[in-house]
Formats: sequence, C-alpha cells, structure tokens
Amino acid sequence: MNTVTDSFGSMVFNDSVMRSRLPKDVFRQVQRSMNEGVRLDSAAATIVANAMKDWAIEKGATHFTHWFQPMTGITAEKHDSFIAPVDGGKVIMEFSGKELIQGEPDASSLPSGGLRATFEARGYTTWDPTSYAFIKDGVLCIPTAFCSYGGEALDKKTPLLRSMEAINREGLRVLKLFGNEGVTSVRTTVGPEQEYFLIDRAVYDRRRDLQYTGRTLFGAKPPKGQELDDHYFGAIKPRVQEFMKELDEELWKLGVMAKTEHNETAPAQHELAPIYTTTNIAADHNQLTMELMQRIARKHGMVCLLHEKPFAGVNGSGKHNNWSITTSTGVNLFEPGDTPAENAQFLLFLCAVIQAVDDYQDMLRICVASAGNDHRLGGAEAPPAIVSIYLGAELEAILDAIESGTAYGGREKEQFKVGVHALPKFPKDTTDRNRTSPFAFTGNKFEFRMLGSSQSISGPNVVLNTAVAESLRQYADRLECAEDFDADLHELIREVVRRHRRVIFNGNGYDAAWVAEAEKRGLLNFPATPDCVPCYIAPKNVELFARHRVYTGPELHARYEIKLDSYCKVVRIEALTMLDMLWKDILPAISAFTGELAASANAKRAMLPVDVSYESAVIQKLSDLSASAAIHGRALEKAMEGVKTQKDTLAAARYYCDRVLPAMESLRAVVDEAETRCAARWWPYPSYGEILTSVK
Ligand code: ADP
Ligand code: MG
Repeated sequence: MNTVTDSFGSMVFNDSVMRSRLPKDVFRQVQRSMNEGVRLDSAAATIVANAMKDWAIEKGATHFTHWFQPMTGITAEKHDSFIAPVDGGKVIMEFSGKELIQGEPDASSLPSGGLRATFEARGYTTWDPTSYAFIKDGVLCIPTAFCSYGGEALDKKTPLLRSMEAINREGLRVLKLFGNEGVTSVRTTVGPEQEYFLIDRAVYDRRRDLQYTGRTLFGAKPPKGQELDDHYFGAIKPRVQEFMKELDEELWKLGVMAKTEHNETAPAQHELAPIYTTTNIAADHNQLTMELMQRIARKHGMVCLLHEKPFAGVNGSGKHNNWSITTSTGVNLFEPGDTPAENAQFLLFLCAVIQAVDDYQDMLRICVASAGNDHRLGGAEAPPAIVSIYLGAELEAILDAIESGTAYGGREKEQFKVGVHALPKFPKDTTDRNRTSPFAFTGNKFEFRMLGSSQSISGPNVVLNTAVAESLRQYADRLECAEDFDADLHELIREVVRRHRRVIFNGNGYDAAWVAEAEKRGLLNFPATPDCVPCYIAPKNVELFARHRVYTGPELHARYEIKLDSYCKVVRIEALTMLDMLWKDILPAISAFTGELAASANAKRAMLPVDVSYESAVIQKLSDLSASAAIHGRALEKAMEGVKTQKDTLAAARYYCDRVLPAMESLRAVVDEAETRCAARWWPYPSYGEILTSVK
C-alpha cells in the first residue's frame, strides 16, 4: 500500500468522492457548474450539501465555514457547527443547500475601501464550485467569493475568476482564427514557488519587532551572513526536514501538490514549489500553504517568517508566479510547437504577453507593491522595480528578424515568414538562465518574479490575465477581418514587436546601468509603493478592467485606497515598535551596561592604578551613541506627528515613505552600531547571528 497516494486528497471533497456519493444526475450538474459556470438548482444543492456534510462528519468534522479571501491578503472564516435542535433536548447534524451556496458573514471588520457603508455591514459569500471543499482542523471549508450587498467584489477571488473568464473569452476568439475547432475553453495555470524563513520560537519570542511587524527593525550584521553561499541546496537540517515532511503530508491531504522543497540562498531560508494547477485553485492552495507553514512551524518549536525582508543585508523572500495558458484539449499555448502553423499561434500569444507587459507595466508593478516588498525589489537579490521581459537571445533574434524583414541567422537566405516557415529549435534550458529578470519566458511558461513572499497571488494573476486578454482582444478584432490571414498575422506580429520591443531586456537586471538604459527606453521605474499606486486609478487602467468586467471603477478605487491604507498602517506599526524597543529596552540596556562598566572601572582604580582605557572608551562611545539614538528617537516621534496633517491617504503614504522611513533608517543605524559595542549579555535581543542559526 502506498500511503502517500492513499492519503493524497483525503480531506478534499473532490471528483472521485462526489462520483461515489452523489446521484449521477447531480454529479453531472456539479460538473457543469464547475466547467461552465451553470448555477446549481436548489434541489441539487441540497443533495450536494447533505453528501458533503455526511462525508465531513465521517472525517471528524463538526463545523463548516465559507472560506474566503478578503482584501487583507489572508483568508477569513467564521465557523458554524452543523448542530440543529430537535425535540427532547437533542440535536441533529444539518447542512442545507442554502448554507452551502451562500453565506452572510458580518463583514464590518474587513476592509472594503469605501465600497460598503458601515451601516450595511453584511457581506455575502458565494460558493466557488471550481475549487473543491476541504476539511481543515475539523472544519468543512467551502471556498467562496465575497461581495457586498450591492454585488461589488470585496475579495481577491471574485476578480480572479472574472479575469479568467476574460482571458478565456478572448483566447477562444484568437484560437478560433487558427482553426482550433475542438477547443471549448482556455484556462491559465500557475505554479507559485514560495520562499520563507524558519527560526527558533525562543529567539522569536524575544523580539517584539518580529512579533509585531514580521521583520527585524534593528540588528547589526553578523560576522557571517550568506557570503559563502553554503546554504543553497545544502543538506536540510533534521528539524527542518521533519517540518517539511509534516507540511508535505498535510498539504497532500488537502490536495495541494507540494513537490519541491529545498534550502534557499540565505541562512534559515527555504522554498516550496507545488506542481502547477488552474489559477484560482493555485491561489487557494497557496493561501493554504502559507497558513500551514506557519501552523506546522509552531508545532515544531519554530516560527515561519513570510515577510519579504525579515533581515536587512540578508536576501529577502519572494514568490515566483509561473504562469501559462492551457486549452481544454491540453495544449500549452506557450509551447512553440513544431509546425509553421503551431509556431505562428505561439508567436501571437507570445506577442500578447509582450504587449501586455509593456502596456501595463504600471499595473504589474502595483500588484506586487507593499511596504514589505519595497525593501526587496531593486535590491541586488530580487528583480528591479522596473518591469521588463526576458525572452532569451534565440527568441529575440527571431522576433528581430520578423520585425526588420531580414534573414534569421539560423536560416538560409530566406526571410522568416510567420505561418509559412517553422521556427528553429531553441534549446529550452537556455531560456531560464537569466535570474535577474522580473518577468522571464522559461521555455513554455512565464515566470513573474516580483511577487512578495507574503502576498496573495490573486492580484498579480488578475493583472496578467486581464492585460493579456486585452492584447488578445485587439488581435482578434483585427484578424477576424483579415483578408489574407498569414500576411496580416505576419504584419501584426511585426508591428507588436516594433512597438513593444523596448520592454524586452535580456541583460543583467541587477546592473546599475540598466536603470539608466530603461529610462532611455521610456520604461517606468517606481522604487516605492506610493510612487506607483496613483497609476492604479489611471484612466487607461480603469478602462482596461471595466472593459473586461474584472473591476468596476469603484472596485478599483477601493483597492487603491486599501493598498495605500495598509502601506501607512504597516509603516506606522513599524515606527511605533521601534520607539517602544528604543525607550523600553535599548537605551536602558546601554545605560545599565555603561553603568556597570563605570562601577567596575572605578572599583579597579580604587584598588590599583590600572589602565581602564577600554572601559572609558566604551563608556564614551556608547554614551555618545545612546545620546544620538535618543535624538533620533525624538526625531522619529516628531516625524510621526506630521502624519496627522496629511490631506488624504496618498499624501499620508507619501509622507510615511519620504519622512518616516528615513527617520527609522537613521535611528536604526545608530542603534545597530551600539549593538556592536555592547556586551552580548546586556543587549536585550538575540543578535542576527543567533537568529539565523537558531534552528540547528
Ligand atoms: P525552476 O523554475 O526551478 O526551473 P520548473 O521550471 O520545473 O522549476 O518549475 C517551477 C514551477 O513552475 C513549478 O511550480 C511548476 O509546477 C511550475 N510550472 C511548470 N510548468 C508550468 C505551466 N505550464 N504553467 C504554470 N506553471 C508551471
Ligand atoms: Mg523558478
């Protein structure tokens, strides 16, 4: 008996469970609602709910919840037990079709970005039948979308599902032009690679900054950081191994195809990659993965840090969103194929992505922007904040040849004609060499590498799906009227390459020269969140999302507000935490240590005429530093007062970025220097060295 294959999906109400527990016609109805979005009628819903409940109770569940993803980026659940009273003071276990299909959680504490007036606190959750129900901790979880009384999306799932519809619609139009008659739908697929840190619970418990903000706000560089690169692919420590084993097992039970687990570049850093799946399911699974990582780490006496930059000077954590489009007949549209016709279709879909990345650079930057990720993007470890696309030399050479009408190097004298000639074979493994690109073609998929480790993948995939749907819409509009399809297609591809080639960059994205080069090319460069967020509501973006019915104007506005507001909140909590640590722990510790030194120096001197220059020098230095830290602390307090006078959320975010963050930086520099001079015994917090090696 193979226990992994037996336990895989054992906590999921999946197709095989449904087939065995539902009457044939009801099972077929559920399939139709999954594949074609047809709503279940109430009789069928009642039968499904009953079967789900019986199955869940057999697995030990006592409660159910509509599991949804509010605009906080994490998941929300409100548990209801199955019990219902019957005569004689007894209860029975009940779950109705109505309860399965719709819920009405009180949503007043969840962010709405102004979409919901406080007097209308209710929100509605609606079952997403394309994502299976599952049992987590004895609770039957039903993946749901979440919207307001007026029907506005208050969550991350609804727009994602809408964007998948958009790319399905426009993708099918284009595929029809290439004669793909048998294709009934296209869906995007995602495999998100998740980075994280594991540290010992004991060191975590001694650091308020990690507890309150997820990152260290102080901390001097350790003598050994990640310089020797000896962690990556190194042997996995036994404790981490045990954690990974349990994590895999729990994820597998939930049907999450956790596949690859390894160490990452920084000490204490690791990565998990699942096998890719349909985008909305990948998004649900990634949320579950992050939740389980944190929970299981605790069980093993560790804490999982998902922050994008928990430690200054040490690589941060990101998430690589591997993305592609697959047809209902199982064809990956980013596989170049073998015949001229397949190649032509591939080139057009490739163009759709190139154009989307160029036209919506701003949205791609915005969808990964957060206070945490700002510490990472543009550093010499993560993609730059400039959005560009990497294709590899071979593919770029072909696009060049098409654009300029010159002969492609690999071919004889002939020009390359789309739809007529076959593409030369380009070796797959050369397409993934560039690790510095924010958006890379990796042979048969695209890897969007700017995502922060803690963020939901929904937002980035909403942008990708919708922006590519828009390119495809334009192509379909044009090619549906083509007289000579191959010639018009060739011309269209030429034009797209000519217009958007500025966004193609195969060089080193970490190189400072790229910043200047990108500026010359007219590419956007938004170093920080408040720089890019105003573009959220730029007319071209409002129009994009409205046209494809992904976000209404007010829905987009709400997200703009929430992004700015959470940026402000994060920086505010960080600043307050720093001050708390400074006044309550750091300055008292320095004072006590220098006092102890002074007492010991005085005692020694009273006894013998010994040299106490070490004590004097340290007392002098640390006293200077603590005086300076106190000044910087007061300056930070003063900066925080200025927030109150900002006229709106954008101004406040700008202010936090320009005034508060630099004040925090200056304070940190002084304190970190003090840490290097202070006796370890007196320093109130575990050092970077201790934290990063805390898991043995
Ligand atoms: P690496 O990027 O480390 O070379 P792979 O290319 O094998 O590794 O895969 C990285 C991630 O990309 C995995 O999560 C994998 O499932 C995912 N992936 C592979 N093919 C596709 C695809 N067609 N669509 C979406 N994700 C994919
Ligand atoms: Mg990868």
